[in-house]
Amino acid sequence: MRVAVISDIHGNRHAFEAVLDAIERSQCRELWCLGDLVGYGAEPDACVELAQRHAAICLAGNHDLGVRGEIPLERFSRGAALAARWTQETISASTREYLDGLAPANLDEAVGLFHASPRDPVWEYVLASLQAELCLDAQQHRVCLIGHSHVALSFSRAAGAAATGQTRDPGEELDLTTGEWLVNPGSVGQPRDGDPRAAWLELDLECWSAAYRRVEYDVAGAAAAIRAARLPDSLAERLAFGQ
Ligand code: ZN
Repeated sequence: MRVAVISDIHGNRHAFEAVLDAIERSQCRELWCLGDLVGYGAEPDACVELAQRHAAICLAGNHDLGVRGEIPLERFSRGAALAARWTQETISASTREYLDGLAPANLDEAVGLFHASPRDPVWEYVLASLQAELCLDAQQHRVCLIGHSHVALSFSRAAGAAATGQTRDPGEELDLTTGEWLVNPGSVGQPRDGDPRAAWLELDLECWSAAYRRVEYDVAGAAAAIRAARLPDSLAERLAFGQ
């Protein structure tokens, strides 16, 4: 089965719709989302509705949990906390209900799914090889999917070797048939790897391969929605830079 894997949508409907269009044209049969539907962006209800309609699996991210009131907003940066408070005041009852039903990990599939990392599904940013090593030691599945850092990357470890990792460009393919892996699709709604295009991953669970994808979207539209909501201007500006 081919699965489309996405993460970190962050209330960016424009980016989410562009990714859904691309997935529609692919051979993916299911959509799995690694969390952070809301936070930062101005259209949380629309994004939750799209996730509800299209995602077979959806995890909770730290921002979703912050909006639910399960993580104190003091743990977030100023801009993120402001956006979380705005989201709390804005979202509909049905959005709230959907977010309330999500968990930050799913261990029921052939690969492990975590919003952040196998040893800390909510908060750990896996960006360095030593960290990846410890996560690979902790994980029960040979291959795990992670989000949270908003960077398209992978870490892997062959038997008896040390873990290595790198950021991944669109079109790059991973051979997942051997070794242990942590695979991050990058972010749909707020990429931070210098490429403003919305990121997603095509995962083939029969051939054990994965391919990184990127799609252009209406960045100006998403930024205008953030400004119209009177959210911090920096949240609008960063989208154009992929930061
Ligand atoms: Zn996020």
